[in-house]
Formats: sequence, structure tokens, C-alpha cells
Amino acid sequence: MTDTAVPGEFALCLTHDVDRVYKTYQSPYYAVLERDPSHLRSLVTGERPYWQFEELMALEDELDVRSSWYVLDEQSLLRDRSPREWLRPESWKLYAGRYDPTDPELADVFRALERGGWEVGLHGSYESADDRERLRAEKRTLEGILEGSVVGGRQHYLNLAGRRSWEHHRAIGLEYDASYGSSTNYGFDGRYDVLRPFDDSFVVFPLTLMERALLPSAPSLEWAWRECRRLLEEAHDHDAVMTVLWHPRYMNENEFPGYRTLYERLIREARAMGAWIGPCRECHELLEARREASSQR
Ligand SMILES: [Zn+2]
Repeated sequence: MTDTAVPGEFALCLTHDVDRVYKTYQSPYYAVLERDPSHLRSLVTGERPYWQFEELMALEDELDVRSSWYVLDEQSLLRDRSPREWLRPESWKLYAGRYDPTDPELADVFRALERGGWEVGLHGSYESADDRERLRAEKRTLEGILEGSVVGGRQHYLNLAGRRSWEHHRAIGLEYDASYGSSTNYGFDGRYDVLRPFDDSFVVFPLTLMERALLPSAPSLEWAWRECRRLLEEAHDHDAVMTVLWHPRYMNENEFPGYRTLYERLIREARAMGAWIGPCRECHELLEARREASSQR
């Protein structure tokens, strides 16, 4: 049996967590903190520096790849949380920057992604990690926007309630989760394959690299690139599934220099090394086809 460029060989899964699409709530905070009034401009002029959907779609289209976008339906601080929580800084971080995925402009974007061959998956809200009904409701909201069904996703902040979260995921009809990993460390940690917590078709994609775990502490962009290159070689040598997370707002080169360049270079290099590249959903389908074929042999 021969299969060409199918996961099980070297695969690179591309994912984007859509945490924020507006900069609104962060601007005054960062302008004060960094004494940089340019952050206020996005409030005044109505520019939307974190709205990177079209940019990123165009980039991936040019590179001839598709990816997974995980959409968040976070609770509203003022509507859903108690006044006691309004004054806590953590609450603002979690809830105040939220967007409404059913907002017509956003819903259009998500449908455009779906129609264009991208995967639109669920970015389970912070509290949903151990709340099956909330998770189910969030999936339903997203499916109300899309034409097809949602088959997988990642929990916000990689927040997992251990194996219970995966039980919730499976119970509401998800086929994979991509939350297993770290926001401060990167690498394979000796784990080159996907996990199967129930020994069935439900798959967990370990997160190999989140951009934030690498770039802010990198001495230079070139150094960061060498780390990426090293991970790709490791993936290649072990026929690994490598999963990377780039938050869309980091594609704004003015605010986050280097992130976009690194992402692009990663994809070009992976292609040159013969990797299969795509969304987790497609990778899962290919893994399933492979698993079925091998069980019939
Ligand atoms: Zn998130």
C-alpha cells in the first residue's frame, strides 16, 4: 500500500485561535502601560489592527494551504457575570475583550472561511472545560452560523479539566481536541504521534508550538527561525504530527514584527521538506482512513 504525503508521515497542522478581533478594550490599558499613545489610535480612528482575517486568508491562499480557525463564544462580563467580578483584572482579561460570533460581519467571515476550504472549529470558552452543556451550546451557536458541522477545536487558554474535557468533547460529537500543550514551552517532549485517550477514533493533537512561547523570549528572529527549523527536522525524522498555533492578531507586522514572517517561512520550509500541511480536521480524516486501512489488513 502506498500513500503519498499522508499523516503518519510528517504532517504540519496549522491552527489559529480567534481570541480577539477588536483591540478596543486593550488599547487604553496598553497605552498607559507602555506610555505609547499610538495604541490609542485604533480607538480613535476605528482602525482594527487585530482584524486579520483577510490578511491571513490571503497569505495562506498564496501559500496554497488551509488551516483550522477556532472560534470563541466567551461569556459577556456585564451580562453573564456578577458585579463582584467586574472589578477583577482577571475578569477583564477573560471577558471584556469578547466578540459575538453571531455578529453579522463576523458570521460572514466564518462562512467565507468555511466556503474557502478552511476548518472552522470550536474554541471552548474558559469555563466550558468542565461544563458539558456550555460546550454543547457553544458548538450549537457556531453550527448555527456555518453550513457544515463542527468536529473539533481547542479550549481557550489550553484549559483542560484533564480527561473529563475529552469526555465532554466526545459526548457532544467532537472528533478531536487540540488543547493539549503549553503556552510557555514548545517542542515534542518525546511525543510524536497524536493521542487516543479512549483508544478509538477520538484524537488529541498535542500542541508543538505556540508563537508566544517562542518569539517574545527569542534573542533574535533568526534564532527563533533556527528553533522552528529544528522542530521541523525533528518532526521529519520521527514522521511526527506537528501542530502549531498562530493567533491571528500576531499577523499584524506593525505591532508584532516577525510573527508573520516566521509563520510563512515555517510553511515554506515544511513544504520543501515534503510535509503534509493542513487543518486538524483534514489530518484527522486522513489518520482515520489510515487507521481503518491498517485494521483491515
Ligand atoms: Zn484562546
